[in-house]
Amino acid sequence: MSTIFTKIINKEIPADIVYESDNVLAFRDINPQAPVHILIIPKIEIPTIKEIKGSEHAVLLGEMYDAANEIAKKEGIAEEGFRLVFNCGNNAGQEVYHIHMHLLGGRKMTWPPG
Ligand code: AMP
Repeated sequence: MSTIFTKIINKEIPADIVYESDNVLAFRDINPQAPVHILIIPKIEIPTIKEIKGSEHAVLLGEMYDAANEIAKKEGIAEEGFRLVFNCGNNAGQEVYHIHMHLLGGRKMTWPPG
């Protein structure tokens, strides 16, 4: 089932887009948890990380990590460090069932996460 992220991909609702390629889109999180909080998503609909198969999605995931590195540099957080997070399912607090990599930076992170 499509989510609000498909509407963002199709430009049906606005988002603060910071990166776009044929397969990947990245935009600022509407409820940022750090000075830099960007969501990096595939343009194809994949509900959760449980649906990921290395044989099928390795290149796509590689593109998402390339995008994260490029954006981190552009946002000026690459040197100090940043966090990449995929929430998967209820216990992890996943709210939108279209996989998305959270790129968080611009402040010192704590560990373990809540
Ligand atoms: P998760 O809890 O991992 O599913 O994360 C979903 C994220 O999507 C949350 O951090 C939300 O703030 C963010 N979000 C939801 N709707 C939008 C939107 N329209 N534009 C930008 N970010 C959104």
